[in-house]
Amino acid sequence: MLQTLLQNETLIRLTAFFGVLAVVAMAEIILPRRRLTASKLRRWASNFGIVFLNSALVRLLLPATAAGFAVFAAQRGWGVFNVLDAPAWVGIIASVVFLDFAIYLQHVMFHAVPALWRLHRMHHADLDFDVTTGARFHPIEILLSMLIKFAVIAVIGAPATAVIIFEVLLNATSMFNHGNFRLPTGLDRVLRLFVVTPDMHRVHHSVEDHETNSNFGFNLPLWDRLLGTYKAQPDAGHEAMTIGIRDYREPKLVSDLPGMLILPFLGRITGYAINRRNWSGKP
Ligand SMILES: [Zn+2]
Ligand SMILES: [Zn+2]
Repeated sequence: MLQTLLQNETLIRLTAFFGVLAVVAMAEIILPRRRLTASKLRRWASNFGIVFLNSALVRLLLPATAAGFAVFAAQRGWGVFNVLDAPAWVGIIASVVFLDFAIYLQHVMFHAVPALWRLHRMHHADLDFDVTTGARFHPIEILLSMLIKFAVIAVIGAPATAVIIFEVLLNATSMFNHGNFRLPTGLDRVLRLFVVTPDMHRVHHSVEDHETNSNFGFNLPLWDRLLGTYKAQPDAGHEAMTIGIRDYREPKLVSDLPGMLILPFLGRITGYAINRRNWSGKP
């Protein structure tokens, strides 16, 4: 089973990526949530460009995929589940949940540490919020989060099956919860008990600091609710809220690939977090 999964990993990931992309893109046309403010063609070309670049870089620079690394860790007996004699399904479920918690913590850290925020703000600088935003991350952020994932896998001894399930799931839910489509209010309310919905994650893409600093989860909404970072709706409402970040709004910088790549390196180094407004209580 694991062998088949590993041999077909690329195929599984590509099928899930294009499958979810097609369904969400269709939903965005049929049931749009917000009117787009920037050129869709321009944004999509750049957002797909960065996905392509990231995939190439990860293949080129890292010696193994995360699942490959999990096999390597298992062979050496690294991590909790490679030491414990737990049933396979327990190891798989617990690892998927723990990896999701680690990604939540990593996301909070990328907002809190100024140098990391510079990388992560490229994701937030998108002037609109749609399915392609969910795949748009700076290459250095992607490489760093892969290394963090390797470390987490080594510590918990995550089975390779869990890693593949988690990565496919994260990719799919990220595209789903960045979708610019409208879910019926009742369905959203029930769904967001179990999974992060587009209305929940859109709050995180607001220009308002107290909204950006909420809803960090990607898969399970549990972590935000448990750790006090949950915000149900944006103050201005989903249609009227402003998406993006306040300081960088020129399309050349935030909608074109070269601008997006240099975005982390712009601006003065202040030595304290861009989110300071949230902590001092003053603008
Ligand atoms: Zn964020
Ligand atoms: Zn996002």
